[in-house]
Amino acid sequence: MTTNEELYERGLRVIPGGVNSPVRAFRSVGGVPYFVSRAEGAHVWDVSGLRFIDLVQSYGASILGHADPEVVAAITEAAGRGSTYGAPTEGEVVLAEELCSRVPGMEQVRLVSSGTEAAMSAVRLARGATGRSTIVKFAGNYHGHSDALLAAAGSGVAERVIGTGVVPDSAGVTAGAVADTLVLPYNRVPTLTDDVAVVCVEPVAANMGLVTPQPGFLEGLRAECDRVGALLLFDEVITGFRLGVGGATERLGVRPDVWCFGKVIGGGLPMGAFGGSAEVMANLAPLGPVYQAGTLSGNPLATAAGLTVLRRLDSDAYARLDATAAALATGLRLAFTSAGIDVVVPRIGPLVGLFFGTQPPTDFDEASASVALGRYPAFFHGMLQRGVALAPGPYEVMFPSLAHTDADIVQVVEAAHEVAAELAEGHASV
Ligand SMILES: *Cc1c(COP(=O)(O)O)cnc(C)c1O
Repeated sequence: MTTNEELYERGLRVIPGGVNSPVRAFRSVGGVPYFVSRAEGAHVWDVSGLRFIDLVQSYGASILGHADPEVVAAITEAAGRGSTYGAPTEGEVVLAEELCSRVPGMEQVRLVSSGTEAAMSAVRLARGATGRSTIVKFAGNYHGHSDALLAAAGSGVAERVIGTGVVPDSAGVTAGAVADTLVLPYNRVPTLTDDVAVVCVEPVAANMGLVTPQPGFLEGLRAECDRVGALLLFDEVITGFRLGVGGATERLGVRPDVWCFGKVIGGGLPMGAFGGSAEVMANLAPLGPVYQAGTLSGNPLATAAGLTVLRRLDSDAYARLDATAAALATGLRLAFTSAGIDVVVPRIGPLVGLFFGTQPPTDFDEASASVALGRYPAFFHGMLQRGVALAPGPYEVMFPSLAHTDADIVQVVEAAHEVAAELAEGHASV
């Protein structure tokens, strides 16, 4: 039987860092990544046959849990009809109708193949629609890895800061590419100037751990954008169709001008989308001067999977997700506090974060101060040893799915009690 170690070693020879996305590499927690051989519902199995309760769920792409039978059937059926044509399909129209009917104020969408592509295209659209150049983004928010948005980004980019104190960025992104990008602290409403094309924000920040918007933050951004004629962009790649039927827009009651989506909407296949009013979207080719295209955009397998998932996501499903996340958050908090370790466990709907420390962070500086306490790696490995897979990076959140049962959460919480006790005694194994 092949092992994680063997695959990692072989991977390192032919794939940079052995992984196809940096956060999978375990660099910030240490050790060898587990290589998944299969997954079902709330669980993943690694190549050595170990089973984990999976709270990664592809960073939120699998909201029903893995290999949901209805999704598998939809993908199989679609594949039998051909996997890509280069011509429009009914599935694209139906999915676009479904997305627009759920998100208040969104009239049109265009389908793409990733969240990165959605955010990149939405920014181009906003610049084209306004004729302006400046982008505002917030430190610790992640909008994918297109050049202009790779400034003080969250998620795996943020991990590179650990121990160095250097502003995260990427080699290969020219000064010119980010010259028009303004990075500001989250949760403070800036005074905008009239050269701003678009203000990009994660309406609930979920790439620096979970940082919720303070009352008035999103409302303030809306008012400032209106005052100077800038567009407001909600990056709902995580929050979309997870925080509720209409995502963060509906849950928080503030309407942006432009949206981007990813993760949940592809049902586990590569898919993203960006949308807006018909007026804003009319700037896109073939109607308008903003060019955007994709050979695999609106892919028939991805639309079939995405539609199957969305149709299952009614208010009952969200109530169930909320309850699962609430039990998880309460249980984790109790596990640590009863061991005498300070943690805060922020939660909004189905999204759960965990920070070591006494105060819930409100921005990236506060989130990284918590990460700098250095407790996450031992927590992560303690949980992994007890059969619970968390994201191998301190800036990610937990993604309970509809497949997680009450018994799964009890098991996660029991593991957390043991790990917390170990951490408190200071003899954790990492
Ligand atoms: C994951 C993520 C992206 C990028 O999506 P990919 O599909 O990984 O390219 C963009 N924005 C947010 C908020 C995300 O969480």
